[in-house]
Amino acid sequence: MTTQTAGIHHITAFVRNAQVTADFYAGVLGLRLIKKTINFDAPEVYHLYFGNEAGSPGTIITFFPWENSRKGKIGGGQVGYTTYVVPAHTLDFWKERLTKLNVDFAQTSRFGEEYLQLADPDGLKLEIVAREQGAQSQWAFGGVPAEKAIKGFGGAILYSTNAAQTAALLVNVMGLEKVGEEGGYARFKSTGDLGNLIDVNVENMEPGHGGAGTVHHIAWRAKDDAEHALWRSLVESSGYQPTPIVDRQYFNAIYFRETGGILFEIATDPPGFARDEEPEHLGEKLMLPEWFEEHRTQIEQLLSPFEVRVLEEDK
Ligand code: ZN
Repeated sequence: MTTQTAGIHHITAFVRNAQVTADFYAGVLGLRLIKKTINFDAPEVYHLYFGNEAGSPGTIITFFPWENSRKGKIGGGQVGYTTYVVPAHTLDFWKERLTKLNVDFAQTSRFGEEYLQLADPDGLKLEIVAREQGAQSQWAFGGVPAEKAIKGFGGAILYSTNAAQTAALLVNVMGLEKVGEEGGYARFKSTGDLGNLIDVNVENMEPGHGGAGTVHHIAWRAKDDAEHALWRSLVESSGYQPTPIVDRQYFNAIYFRETGGILFEIATDPPGFARDEEPEHLGEKLMLPEWFEEHRTQIEQLLSPFEVRVLEEDK
């Protein structure tokens, strides 16, 4: 039995406004809203999932939009950058697109790759890198044709308050391989072809604090329930304190806080997002788990409507 995660399953972040978030992640980045549900722990708050056409593991970013949330501060104990990967030779398309849609970006390079770094409207830090690896998205939206669309995550930059411990966890428990060190970052590689290159600061970083514009947690892939149960044992026997297995409707989850302060989740690939909606209609209706269905009317009254729309500047 191997215990190597394929890579990132999903990343979950705090934002303030559902419409603003849809306009950025669908309108600008061209992702598909693949599930519209609620925070199962706070049903007055949406839980929105954006990904490729199917919401495949390694493509999913999820949000809790909460109007009254304070702005967070990105720092140690968080995902610093969420990295998106686009097809090889499409970075010029993305530069032109961001310019046309008035999204500021900076260009930087790391480990021999060029990155566009940008922020979403709440300040969440993102970057875009072009690579051959990873299946092409089948989703086209607005001015983003499928052959230039974001394929999913290229990886992430983790900001750790205890870089040595975070690095040791990635290698010894999560099964990543260290493949380099450059410019203050160590790079780790997992076995999948999306969400598979993870950079971690080498020097410890001062802690940030949570709030709008910060990542709440990063989830790693387990291929099925049997492997998930093994992960839980392995995490616990490695000295961490995982939660019991939680049913998240579209995957099962465990959570634990690693020594560098980052909240890790391990999530199963199955059952996925087509368990309660047809693949061609993902994300169109508000989906509730059965234990909330009897409260649907009250829940819908608490949520502000929003739509996935092509931006005016993109028509
Ligand atoms: Zn999660």
